[in-house]
Amino acid sequence: MKKFAALLAAASILAGGSAYASGGGHWTYSGNTGPDHWATLDSKFSACAGMNQSPINIDTKTAIEAQLDAVKINYTSSSTEVLNNGHAIQVNFAKGSTITIDNTEFELKQYHLHYPSENTINGESFPMELHLVHADKNGNLAVIGIMFKEGAANSQLAAVWKKMPRKEGEKNALSGDLKATGVLPDSKDYYRFNGSLTTPPCSEGVRWIVMKNPITASKDQIKEFEHTMHHPTNRPVQPVNARPILK
Ligand SMILES: [Zn+2]
Repeated sequence: MKKFAALLAAASILAGGSAYASGGGHWTYSGNTGPDHWATLDSKFSACAGMNQSPINIDTKTAIEAQLDAVKINYTSSSTEVLNNGHAIQVNFAKGSTITIDNTEFELKQYHLHYPSENTINGESFPMELHLVHADKNGNLAVIGIMFKEGAANSQLAAVWKKMPRKEGEKNALSGDLKATGVLPDSKDYYRFNGSLTTPPCSEGVRWIVMKNPITASKDQIKEFEHTMHHPTNRPVQPVNARPILK
């Protein structure tokens, strides 16, 4: 059942996840279809009330020291299109980009952005957070989260922003051979924990990798993203409960 839910979620992600994802109920980031109500909006969203939900606050003092293996990142394919699904701006990738963790290969499907950040680090929120979404051949998901802080402009965002659809449901082709390596920090040190999708259906069993070091976007790039989304697109942090956070 869990795997089925993950597959459904992956299918929704791959399809671009409209506001009415996979036939499920309409959800938003505020009001009576907001995060506090997701679990009861639709029977498919019941996992939103689960014990291993994302995002979380990463408390670096209580995180457990671990010998985390480097994530093998092999981002060789290019982006194909950028879409506005009403919840996020999403960049889809051609097949061929992968990461390897836990001796398992996961293929990069897309990345998308939230503002402000969803995960927080020692209670600190960042102006944007980027999620690289990967799936293995069984539909299990692994997400790499990267924080943005204000600073130098990011050249890949500059190319994406030029094509970013202003209207929900629209998409534009991307050319220029953009690879996801363009949104990775130099240092690949990371925090590791188990969590969920941060949007309905909130499926659990997602391997989360949050990079310790942020990358930068310019003040104008951050502003332009906020104006395009019109409203914050972050789910509030969820209880960590019994989960270990490794550092
Ligand atoms: Zn996300």
